[in-house]
Amino acid sequence: MTVPALTMNNGVEIPQVGFGVFLVPDTETQAAVQTALEAGYRHIDTAKLYQNEAGVGAAIAASGIPRDELFVTTKVWNSEQGFEPAIASFEASMDRLGLDVLDLLLIHWPAPDLDRYVDTWRAFEKLYAEGRVRAIGVSNFQPEHLQRLFDETSVVAAINQIELHPLLPQDELRAFHAEHGILTEAWSPLARGGDVLADPVITAIAERLGRTPAQVILRWHVELGNVVIPKSVTPSRIRENLELFDFSLTAEDLAAIAGLETGDRIGPHPDTFSRG
Ligand code: NDP
Repeated sequence: MTVPALTMNNGVEIPQVGFGVFLVPDTETQAAVQTALEAGYRHIDTAKLYQNEAGVGAAIAASGIPRDELFVTTKVWNSEQGFEPAIASFEASMDRLGLDVLDLLLIHWPAPDLDRYVDTWRAFEKLYAEGRVRAIGVSNFQPEHLQRLFDETSVVAAINQIELHPLLPQDELRAFHAEHGILTEAWSPLARGGDVLADPVITAIAERLGRTPAQVILRWHVELGNVVIPKSVTPSRIRENLELFDFSLTAEDLAAIAGLETGDRIGPHPDTFSRG
């Protein structure tokens, strides 16, 4: 299964579907990432917080896949925001991953109470200028946080990775991203495997198309233009979540899924979350 790539605002390409590893224990991460690589994933999303960068790195090293065919994202956690701490966090992540150059580095949360994301971004700009990272971006940023980076720094974020699923389609933030040339990346794209997978709107579309509910939701993301990073430790689901490019949804399907919006979040609100 070949996954199409989207082009970021600096010309670097990112595979539209990646493999997320939040809540996968480090001891199980190598096997899960290995299954994902065998299924055809070439994009892995981890973070310092997940404590499984070493498992990701071990799977990459064992795979024999040429480095330039892989796309790896990691993130700097709140407690390591600030210029020097962010550089140190990046270097420690790279040691655990066993990589020299990273594809995408994200600020995990804006944590506005800490007020360090501008300094953190300046560290990211330095790493980018030095060629240590191919692209830099943010996660969980609201328009006001992005605007502050536009006003006070030089490089425009390539991506904003945000909570996004049918219950929380983030139409306004996606429009803001489009206006500023920032790609939208959806975390918890399946609403963490919750009730939405059993919603009659989703299951009816899935039955008509002969697909699974998860595939319908992931295809919805693809048609919105989102980068999407579903997580699974189940081999059949890992494979299923990549098989999205031989069917499509109708305008009626998209309208029906739009009707599922409730505004409910799985994660905390970015305006107030600043846990260290
Ligand atoms: P997802 O929406 O990807 O859902 C994962 C859950 O859905 C798991 O319980 C999984 O079960 C289940 N699942 C996966 N595929 C299927 C399927 N085909 N059918 C039925 N159930 C399925 O949630 P995540 O929160 O993990 O988000 C994905 C990734 O986003 C994370 O792994 C991480 O990389 C990133 N993320 C980023 C955040 C940020 O702040 N930047 C915050 C949270 C996540 P099982 O594994 O048992 O198969």
